[in-house]
Amino acid sequence: MTVHRITRLRIVNAYLVAEDDGLTLIDTTLPRSAKPILKAAGRLGAPIRRIVLTHAHQDHIGSLDDLVAALPGVEVLISPRDARLLAKDLTLDPGEPGKLRGGYSGARTRPSRTVEAGERIGSLEVVAAPGHTPGQIALLDERDRTLYCADAYSTLGGVATTAKVNPRFPLPALATWHAPTALASARELRALAPTRLAPGHGRVVESPGAAMDAAIQRASASTPESASLPRR
Ligand SMILES: [Zn+2]
Repeated sequence: MTVHRITRLRIVNAYLVAEDDGLTLIDTTLPRSAKPILKAAGRLGAPIRRIVLTHAHQDHIGSLDDLVAALPGVEVLISPRDARLLAKDLTLDPGEPGKLRGGYSGARTRPSRTVEAGERIGSLEVVAAPGHTPGQIALLDERDRTLYCADAYSTLGGVATTAKVNPRFPLPALATWHAPTALASARELRALAPTRLAPGHGRVVESPGAAMDAAIQRASASTPESASLPRR
């Protein structure tokens, strides 16, 4: 499959995934990005049928409301946990440690429905990837094992988990809610043996296995394991 990446300000990505009935948009990047996203879909000659949000940080949901206004009938999908963050409910669940980090601007749009790990969205399998946010999801294209990993990994300034700050692009790790959970998710995603890593920030990396292993190793050295949460 061809990966269709839309990049804003050279640091934030959205993706268009081709399906038989049209396109699935993964994330919406920053505010004022609806136009370039719609243009990219136009170039592919197919309608955007659904928008999947990997998590509710503002640099991923920024153009959601504008896109929903421009795409009547479009379906909007997000995990139940991050749906609350999308609605600007920033309370933590009982047992959730630490505090939320990063920007949660919220959106007027409410999801059409929420999605759980193991569900399919067209060719994409929903994979739990909590840690960066409590309800982050990744998406695995079962046709070729392209992994849309959200902010579980960043590739800007080198492949890195968001459990540990990468000095060359610290933002995603600084916006991460719970590092031990993020590290556990990074391991789970590695175990899926993706052929291609398509992150929220940075370029798409082919055959990412060795780079993911190295990133996990770097983060393991500085992240406490014992505090890791049970996976939802
Ligand atoms: Zn994020």
